[in-house]
Amino acid sequence: MDTDVLVVGAGPTGLMLAHELRLGGVSTVLVDRLPERSELSRAGGVTPRTMELLDQRGLLEPLLATGDYPMSLGHFAARLLDPGDLDGRLPGRFIPQTVIEKFLADRLADHGLAVRWAHDLIALSADEDGVTATLRHGTTTRTVRSAFLVAADGAHSTVRTLLGIAFPGRPGTDTSVVADVRLRYPRPPRSEPQLGPEPGDIGQSHTVAADGNWAMQFPLGGDLRRLALGGPAHSLPRQTPVTEEEIRAGLRTVYGEAVELAELRYAYRITNAARQVADYRRGRVLLAGDAAHIHLPIGGQGMNTGIQDAVNLGWKLAATVHNWAPRGLLDTYQSERHPVAARVLRTVQAQSLLMDWTGTGGPDLLAARQLFDTLLQLPDTKRYLTTMMAGLDIHYPMPEQPDHPLLGRRAPDLDLATGSGPVRLHELLRTGRGLLIDPTGDPNLAALTHPWKDRVDHLPTTTPTDALLIRPDGHICWAAPSPYPPQHLEPALLHWFGRA
Ligand SMILES: Cc1cc2nc3c(=O)[nH]c(=O)nc-3n(C[C@H](O)[C@H](O)[C@H](O)COP(=O)(O)OP(=O)(O)OC[C@H]3O[C@@H](n4cnc5c(N)ncnc54)[C@H](O)[C@@H]3O)c2cc1C
Repeated sequence: MDTDVLVVGAGPTGLMLAHELRLGGVSTVLVDRLPERSELSRAGGVTPRTMELLDQRGLLEPLLATGDYPMSLGHFAARLLDPGDLDGRLPGRFIPQTVIEKFLADRLADHGLAVRWAHDLIALSADEDGVTATLRHGTTTRTVRSAFLVAADGAHSTVRTLLGIAFPGRPGTDTSVVADVRLRYPRPPRSEPQLGPEPGDIGQSHTVAADGNWAMQFPLGGDLRRLALGGPAHSLPRQTPVTEEEIRAGLRTVYGEAVELAELRYAYRITNAARQVADYRRGRVLLAGDAAHIHLPIGGQGMNTGIQDAVNLGWKLAATVHNWAPRGLLDTYQSERHPVAARVLRTVQAQSLLMDWTGTGGPDLLAARQLFDTLLQLPDTKRYLTTMMAGLDIHYPMPEQPDHPLLGRRAPDLDLATGSGPVRLHELLRTGRGLLIDPTGDPNLAALTHPWKDRVDHLPTTTPTDALLIRPDGHICWAAPSPYPPQHLEPALLHWFGRA
């Protein structure tokens, strides 16, 4: 083998996966066909769960230190959600995708894992023992043999095409415009915005004009804004170039004289295609991020789902490469992550309908939206949607374990008192290893975990909490309240961490 894992695609998914594999001690080659990092910032919204995952790896603080990134309040169908409803510590932020990509790539380079730009995957064959990939680099080609290959090569995945993997779903039926802009506000807005931190603030808004055309704005840091324009005036064939005039006209239609274009950074058309591969694994090839699922970018889900795919997959792949993975571990990537993206696709479709993305202005739709707005006043509904859009309600099946409210869920970022002082639980996950939080004081529990000490850390604490066994991706796979019956701990250790 030339390397344990070849990761194709250095977008957010591939970069995060490379981080996870490096942490798991797996040799990795990361290639991208682009000559250099893209400056095209697509995603801007980082959800609270992704913030937590970055924090769990010690990446969040240095990332936030690179600039001034406003809080992202989160929305569902352009109805503002209240982050006060969340039980996490970290609010979402607007951090441009380019910033995240540069940061992750620089960090990898610090660890000696530089992205190999201008390496285009052009052919692929997989057998029982590994994968042979052909990469074109300038005028030369070379083959790379790896034990596993991960397709993180985006919506138009070459890997998917080369392997003939179907990408079922709905083709794009409508297009809209997305642009990064600077705006001027000569007058107060003509119409009341439906989404905004303050009444009358069009800094973060979704405004629909009488003719069904609409505009949305999100702050991207400084005075840069992400502008989306949709409705009948913008539903043009995907390849039609977006002109400055189209953007000026779109702004006029929705905001009248209240908003003017000061600077256009770049613009392109997006479609509402929604697709997902049926199986994220084909033998020694795995798919992650946009290569596995695409949808309209509403509510800031695509990049976040891709980064979360990477964190779910990384440690399982590392365990498999290092030969300690219990039977079926790698397949839980499919059983855990496929339903998550399937739900994202469904909720994005529901949002685009409620927002009247195509600008039909139909009375039935408006009635449904009114009803939805009423339901959204109910605290339980709001909390459900806020937690879902934040990615904080994701939980995975944990077989053969007695019920516990935390089982399968993300570990909360508890403050823990330990012999060497206080520590945050999420800081303890920076090693990328399993973790047993042990408030029992019972030497049997320590003795029981000891044989797994090369994979699982044991942390005695005096903080009153349930005893928790946490996987490297931060999900709880065993939990016991006081008096901490340890009888299910060993099966959980075997199930997730293999034979001692
Ligand atoms: C306008 C817009 C706004 C968005 N806003 C948000 C948001 O706020 N929040 C959010 O979470 N998501 C958002 N998204 C979605 C987000 O941008 C994507 O989901 C994300 O980029 C997916 O990351 P990825 O790494 O899976 O794929 P990509 O970012 O597409 O990266 C794939 C990489 O693979 C490389 N590649 C492709 N083929 C080959 C090959 N043959 N050989 C080698 N390399 C190859 C490509 O060059 C590319 O660099 C938005 C998208 C758009 C278009």
